Amino acid sequence: MAYLATPTATTEVIKKHGFNFQKKFGQNFLIDANILEKIVDSAKVTKDDCVIEIGPGIGTMTQYLAERAREVAAVEIDKNLIPILKETLSEYDNVTIINEDILKVDINRLAEEKNGGRPIKVVANLPYYITTPIIMGLFESHVPLSSITIMVQKEVADRMQVGPGTKDYGALSLAVQYYARPEIVVNVPPACFMPRPNVGSAVIRLTRFEKPPVKVDDEKKMFSIIRSAFNQRRKTLANALANGFCHVDKDGKAVHVSRQEVCEVLNQMGISETIRGEALTLEQFALLSNLLKA
Ligand code: SAM
Repeated sequence: MAYLATPTATTEVIKKHGFNFQKKFGQNFLIDANILEKIVDSAKVTKDDCVIEIGPGIGTMTQYLAERAREVAAVEIDKNLIPILKETLSEYDNVTIINEDILKVDINRLAEEKNGGRPIKVVANLPYYITTPIIMGLFESHVPLSSITIMVQKEVADRMQVGPGTKDYGALSLAVQYYARPEIVVNVPPACFMPRPNVGSAVIRLTRFEKPPVKVDDEKKMFSIIRSAFNQRRKTLANALANGFCHVDKDGKAVHVSRQEVCEVLNQMGISETIRGEALTLEQFALLSNLLKA
């Protein structure tokens, strides 16, 4: 089977199988071999690696991954793509095609089955409508992984990289930067896809930290604080937490905080009581979480 990463080869496969693109699944297939090479190169895939690909489409990137990796597990939601993948990937005996919704797959179990629980690599041209839940799910469920190399909407890639004081800074930036080092690999224009998306895209590599850059006593609590702070980002942090913060503690009890308690901790940290959450760094959120009694 020839490589699929050209407009002609992709059109041929699609016509042959009478395939119709489904917008609801975010189907924009890559048709640019240079970009594919860049993705696989930057993921640093070697013959030791087990790769999980999310949304293989017709198998365009899977071909490259299969040639470089020891083993590839490709999870595709659209059942109409399964017979196509079986054909386009028939030459490779190291690819498992899984017809599932990635959000319902137990990736920890998959990593255990395929790689004995050693760190896997995730490589994907993601369906944009579920970028955040996929990334958060991978990190928060502590799937053993060394890196995630993914194509996402350009704006989302930017959001993962920025710090306080920018409008794009938010819960996603902090979560990504707590777990990994983000680096944009390449910007990708709409013309590299079939059909063309309405937005620009970027490939970003998230290299998982062995140890998070800040010390947090209770990760879940810190992320509840972060979410409450950004859910009401125009409010002061003290008001946002007094109104919106709810944390379920280790004994299953729902805990709230008062404005007064938050202000006391902010004073202790040498931060103004009128500060908004969007001005706090990851280190400051970590300290706030450790100091708040809740
Ligand atoms: N990897 C292919 C490529 O680069 O040409 C296709 C990328 S396309 C942007 C996204 C793919 O993810 C589609 O094949 C789509 O059907 C699949 N997909 C969408 N939602 C999914 C989900 N929840 N679980 C698994 N795959 C999904």
